[in-house]
Amino acid sequence: MHNHKVVPVTGDSGCVSTLCLVTQHEARDFSHEWFTALEVQNLHTHTRFDDGKDTVDELVRAALEAGLGTVGFSGHSHTPFDKSYCMSPEGTAQYKSDVLAAKKTYAGRIKVYLGLEWDMLSPRPSRKDGYDFIIGSCHYLEKDGQILDFDTDLSDFEKLLREKFGGSGLALAKAYYRQLCGLCEKGPVDIAGHFDLAAKFSEDGRFFDPRGKEYLFCAEEAVEVLSKNVSVFEVNTGGMAKGYRNTPYPSLEILKIARRYGVPVTLSSDCHDKNMLLYGRKESLDLIRAAGYKAYVILTDSGWKEVPV
Ligand SMILES: [Zn+2]
Ligand SMILES: [Zn+2]
Repeated sequence: MHNHKVVPVTGDSGCVSTLCLVTQHEARDFSHEWFTALEVQNLHTHTRFDDGKDTVDELVRAALEAGLGTVGFSGHSHTPFDKSYCMSPEGTAQYKSDVLAAKKTYAGRIKVYLGLEWDMLSPRPSRKDGYDFIIGSCHYLEKDGQILDFDTDLSDFEKLLREKFGGSGLALAKAYYRQLCGLCEKGPVDIAGHFDLAAKFSEDGRFFDPRGKEYLFCAEEAVEVLSKNVSVFEVNTGGMAKGYRNTPYPSLEILKIARRYGVPVTLSSDCHDKNMLLYGRKESLDLIRAAGYKAYVILTDSGWKEVPV
């Protein structure tokens, strides 16, 4: 699945073979105009094994009720330097066992994929560890031999800016994109997670202008590098769900750049709560249309498939 080849699928009326496996739902909600049944997928979800609220089983049942065709699990990889939010080594083994059990239990009703949100500064799992997909994310910056958290908390972010980046949000953003360019150096990554996370607290221009030339220049460099190495970018509404942003990651401006480089996008809510599985989906669809995308992609047993929007 580590390539850019995508195959179109038909719309919501006629499904292709792999997608037919996920049609046996009872509780679909067709009331939303944006809802296109089979193609509704979220590959970015967290459980109690990391910083999510729900068990694997609770999330799968919620996904069934919400009408998802596929749910993917993407627990946070074990980060020895910050154990506050990630899976423990023992928890990772149990997580994999629970997700594999859910695959069997719910076969024929909903497709379940076992994934991992790998932080690029944490030990890299081998693809042979049994994961169906790997989201590669950058939650920390490595600077002067230290690992710096720029993602968790606004006051910590402000302190970090003052103490390590001379108060410059743009300097931090440049460091983020420089580091992100190395996302695939330790092994293949299927999905670039929440590209644009450096702008988490700056959607309104608070610490730098996320629509400014300098920021977009750095972002474009990273898009260019990653476009050759990752299969897909995600349009991620996690920052919206937590109230930090009004729009998904990445921004419209960056999505336009990604489209120019031919990078496909998948839609995810970076779900930490089963009630937020489809959070911001309409906004994501509007955003990719505005960026000029004619389709998003979904993961199937035979690789990425395009779904027209
Ligand atoms: Zn993340
Ligand atoms: Zn996540």
